[in-house]
Amino acid sequence: MRSSEPPPPRRQAIGVRASLALLVVGCIVPMAAVAGFLIVDFYTRERAQLLASTVGQARAIMAAVDAGFRSTEAALQALSTSHQLERGDLAGFHARAVEAQRQMEADGVILIDAGGNLLMSTRRAYGEPLPKLGPTPLLKRILATGRPGVSNLFPAPVGGQLMYTIGVPVRRDGAIAMSLNATASPVQLAALLAARKLPDSWRTAIIDGSGKIAARSHDIARFAGRPTTPALLRQLELADEGGFETTTLDGIPVYTVYSRSPDSRWSVALGIPLDELTAGLRRSLAWLIAVTLAALALGLALAWRIGGGIARSVRALAGPAAAVASGEVPAIPPLALREANELGLALQQAGATVRTAQAERRESEQQLALAAEAARMGIWVRDLVRERVWVSASWRELFGFRPDEPVSVETLLQRVHPDDSAAVRRVLEQAARGERYEIEYRIEPPQGGLCWVASRGSCEAGSDGVPRLVRGVALDITQRKLAELEMQQKQREVTHLARVATLGELSGALAHELNQPLTAILSNAQAAQRFLRHSTPDLLEVDAILADIVAEDQRAGEIIRRLRRLFDKREAPRQPVDVNQVVIGVLRLLRNDLLSHGVALSSVLGAGGAHVLADSVQLQQVLINLLMNACDAMALTEAGGKAIGVRTALDDDGWVRIIIADCGSGIPAAALEQVFAPFYSTKESGMGLGLSICRGIVSAHGGQLWAESNPDRGASFHVRLPLAGAEAAVGQGAPA
Ligand code: ADP
Repeated sequence: MRSSEPPPPRRQAIGVRASLALLVVGCIVPMAAVAGFLIVDFYTRERAQLLASTVGQARAIMAAVDAGFRSTEAALQALSTSHQLERGDLAGFHARAVEAQRQMEADGVILIDAGGNLLMSTRRAYGEPLPKLGPTPLLKRILATGRPGVSNLFPAPVGGQLMYTIGVPVRRDGAIAMSLNATASPVQLAALLAARKLPDSWRTAIIDGSGKIAARSHDIARFAGRPTTPALLRQLELADEGGFETTTLDGIPVYTVYSRSPDSRWSVALGIPLDELTAGLRRSLAWLIAVTLAALALGLALAWRIGGGIARSVRALAGPAAAVASGEVPAIPPLALREANELGLALQQAGATVRTAQAERRESEQQLALAAEAARMGIWVRDLVRERVWVSASWRELFGFRPDEPVSVETLLQRVHPDDSAAVRRVLEQAARGERYEIEYRIEPPQGGLCWVASRGSCEAGSDGVPRLVRGVALDITQRKLAELEMQQKQREVTHLARVATLGELSGALAHELNQPLTAILSNAQAAQRFLRHSTPDLLEVDAILADIVAEDQRAGEIIRRLRRLFDKREAPRQPVDVNQVVIGVLRLLRNDLLSHGVALSSVLGAGGAHVLADSVQLQQVLINLLMNACDAMALTEAGGKAIGVRTALDDDGWVRIIIADCGSGIPAAALEQVFAPFYSTKESGMGLGLSICRGIVSAHGGQLWAESNPDRGASFHVRLPLAGAEAAVGQGAPA
């Protein structure tokens, strides 16, 4: 019966190919992720750097614009101190201004008084009527601050083209009397932008203090003078420098970087198209993805190929492994993998080992089966977990089960002899609790007859300590049991024969004992005859004589009854027997014989009322034997020195003792135990069985019999028996 079954295959088991594919993905994907992160990080830094440098460019353009303003201011300052103006020579000043204008980036120079009246303009010939200007915002600012300034864009009063002015105050007697202005066209600013040579795709613009576009890299004609995007206007209000994502007026998504002059409040904005900003990043990422995908494809293809090779090698070994398990010679095909070849070699070796082991096991199984069959030994295994019973063929034969007949604990118990089934059930329960067991019991097979079976077994527990299996063997011991019973019968017969032999030896004494009542009966009968012959017989006397005859007859009858009981072959049932009464009965039986041998008998019966559970006849036999041995031992003792002492006593531990001591030849110390061996005798006509039988009888009563040497002379024989009711203590208190 096999208790270990192969474990079920794992459901989530993963193939070699899938494992390798996972390995490939596991290697490449994290690397690609790291590369992606590095690329993004690199471009983030690049972009930050680009934006920082773009802010610098915006600042530089703004500085160039401011520098243009300041050089014009400086030229105007210089012109304002011309002596023509100081003298009020406007005609001379006009000529001077026309000359100075050539040095400036301006298309006209005008002089305005504090009231906003145009006093002179180089755009007109001197003396031509001049239009009235009124107080412009720039004039107001110059008058208020006393500092030079730049106007916002405005349409020219004549012609309407966009322009702006740069003005410086002209003081007379400490007060600002006029403003000397240079008018310029934003076209010059556009030239300044173009000179920066920024990428063509960038959208750049110069914006005046009010947020209108003065110059633009693209579509200036369309956007000049128009307010810039509301987003940029908002940003300009928040900070003088910065960058943000927005959409240009012509609808291009850009990252705009701007810088505003704290002096003129004009600004420069550079818009880098977002496309351009992320193009590099997108290109790099696209490359990365392409390379990653290619690496994955290559890796997976390799994984598929290599995994296939490994899987083929492993699968090629599955068949040989199964062959090893079933004890066949595994055929290992040539394999591509070195390790698989090594495994194949190991399988071949394992196969050889398995085959040898199987052959050996078969051999030993056959031997065991033969031995079991020869011994009529049945094997049985009880699975406590599944409550199933497996039995060998010889077990079935022994218990009379057909080959296909199911066997269970209950069907087994049905075959057990009713007197033994409780004991068998008990040991089976003990075994199921993990105890070993050993029992002999009778079975009644259905084909009839009675079989004796010796069964022993033990329990096997699982790793958790819980009993799982009970394994046992059952042996047919019917022959042995029959032999034992026969031997017991023979022993009884020998015991009986010994008893008869003892009585043969006693016969002289018995004849003597019987002779007494018979003689008395005879003389009493003769006396009665004499009395009856008288003419007047004394009937009272005759009656007394007859009473004597009856009494003597009863005495003789008692002697004969006692003898008959000793000759009786039947075993009497054990019953409580008074020890002292048995001793007294035996002494009465032997008294005459002992006396005729000149043996003085003394007795001290200390165990008054002590009862033992015994067959009284067997007990008598023991005592007669011991007394006659004592008598024999004193055969050579001088007359008058022959004495036997009989003693009974209660031991402290619930046992009673009978001691028979003599003054005979004694027993050498070395032979004290030997005398109990069968056929040990020192007597010429002795059989050497008496003491052996006596010990057998005493042991069967749960007692002990042994010999001791007396301190002075002779030997003592001790019989120790458990008191009735104290048999449970059998085996305890044995002499050392
Ligand atoms: P048997 O009387 O036929 O010899 P037993 O078994 O009764 O057989 O006795 C065996 C031997 O033990 C005797 O031959 C004798 O040597 C010795 N023996 C028995 N009882 C005594 C005794 N009381 N004193 C000395 N020896 C004894």
